[in-house]
Amino acid sequence: MTLRLVADAVFTVDAGDTVWCPGAVEMEDGRITWVGDPRLTPPGAHTEVRALGGLLMPGLVNCHGHSPMTLVRSAGDGLPLDRWLSEAVWPREALQSDDDVFWGMTLGAHELLCNGVTTTCEQYLHPGAVAEAALASGIRCVLTPGVFDVPGIDPAGSWTAHLAEACRVFDEMDGRQGRLHVGFGPHAAYSLPPEGLAAVAQEAQRRDALVQIHLAETEAEGHLIEERSGLRAPALLASLGVLDGRVLAAHGVWLDDDDMALLADHEVAVAHCPGSNGKLGSGVARLAALLAHGIRVGLGTDGPASNDDLHLWDEMRLAALLARATAADPEIVSSATALRLATRGGGEALGLPVGALEPGRPADLIRLRTDDDRFVPALNEAELLGHLVWAGAGYLVTDVWVGGAPVVVGGDCVHIDGARARAEVGERAHRLFAL
Ligand SMILES: [Zn+2]
Repeated sequence: MTLRLVADAVFTVDAGDTVWCPGAVEMEDGRITWVGDPRLTPPGAHTEVRALGGLLMPGLVNCHGHSPMTLVRSAGDGLPLDRWLSEAVWPREALQSDDDVFWGMTLGAHELLCNGVTTTCEQYLHPGAVAEAALASGIRCVLTPGVFDVPGIDPAGSWTAHLAEACRVFDEMDGRQGRLHVGFGPHAAYSLPPEGLAAVAQEAQRRDALVQIHLAETEAEGHLIEERSGLRAPALLASLGVLDGRVLAAHGVWLDDDDMALLADHEVAVAHCPGSNGKLGSGVARLAALLAHGIRVGLGTDGPASNDDLHLWDEMRLAALLARATAADPEIVSSATALRLATRGGGEALGLPVGALEPGRPADLIRLRTDDDRFVPALNEAELLGHLVWAGAGYLVTDVWVGGAPVVVGGDCVHIDGARARAEVGERAHRLFAL
C-alpha cells in the first residue's frame, strides 16, 4: 500500500532546495516513492491519502550526541571541558549500569523524536544498552561505542576492553532493523594512546565503519596534544592512519586552514556543535571556512549535560547566527544552507541517504503545524524558510516517520512512555549526583 501525505508546504531539501506549496510525499515499504504537487498528479488507485495540512520536511539529523547523558543533564555547569569531564562527567558515568544507560537513552530518544530528530549519531559507553533503547524507540541511530583510556575512573579498565566490546556490538548488531548503523567512537586524540587510536581505526576500516572522534574542541587540548606528540591533532590522527577511513570529527572549533585542508584531503566530515561549544566556553567553530574547504558539515547537539537539551532547531539557528555575527556578514551562511546543515548535510556527514525528501530515500520525515504565531505571516516560500530557520521549534512538530513507520503521532511518541522515562531517569540521577 502506498501512503500519500498532503501538506500546505513540502520542503524537500533536494539538490535544488525544491519547495512544493501545496505538496505531497508518497511512501511505500519504508521509502519515498514520489514528491510533488498533489493537484497535478492524482493518487493511484491503491494509494491511501492523508490530508495533513501544515508543513512536511526531512527529519532533522543529529550528527553528534551522547543522549544517555540525560542522566547527568546540567552537571558541571560553568566548568571548562577538561574539568567538566574529569570532575562532573566521568566520575558519574563510572557509576552507571546498563539499565541506567538504557533509560538515559530512552529519555534522550523521546526528546529527540518529539522535537523532530529522526537520525542521531551517538557515542557512549554501555553500547548494547544504547542500541537496545534506540531500537525500541523507533529512531534511526548511528552508534559509535566509546573507546577511551582514563585511568582510575574507567569502569571497563582499558581501551582494549572498550574496543573489543565495540567490535562485538558491530558484529552482532550492525544493520539491525535497517536503522541501527554501528561505527566506532574513539573519544579523542588526548584520551587514547597513539596505539589505541591506530587500533580502533584499523578495526573500523576492516568493517568500512564510521569513526566518530572529538577533534579540536578546545584550545587547551590542542596544546596538550602538541606537547605530547609534536603534532597538531589532525596531523597526529593522519599519521596514525585514523583519517584513512570514514571519519566524522566532532566540534572542530580550533582548526586552522592547514588542518581544514588536511581534513578535506581525507574527506573527513565535521559535526558542528555550536550550543555545546558555547556552554563550555570552547569557542566558535569556523563554519563558513569549513564549508569553503568543501568539508561535509552536519550539526550536533552533543550530550545534554553541555547543551542542555536535544533540540537541533537551536543548533541550526546558532550555527547561522554565530557564522553571520562573527563575520559581520548576513550572507555568509544563508537560511537555505542552515536548513541543509540540519538535514541533508547531516546525512552526508554520516554517509546515510537521509535528510532529503526524494524518491528512493528512506521515508524519514516530520510534520510541523503552522497554525502558530511564529509562522505568521507566510506569504511565500522564502518567508516559510525564514520561519523554519529563525523561529522553528520542536513544539511545532506533530508527527514523525522513520523508515515510513510513524514514531510520533499527534505529538506523542508511539513506542516510548515519556512519563515512565522521565521518572526512571529522575530516580536514577539521585544516585549519580550523590557524589
Ligand atoms: Zn561530544
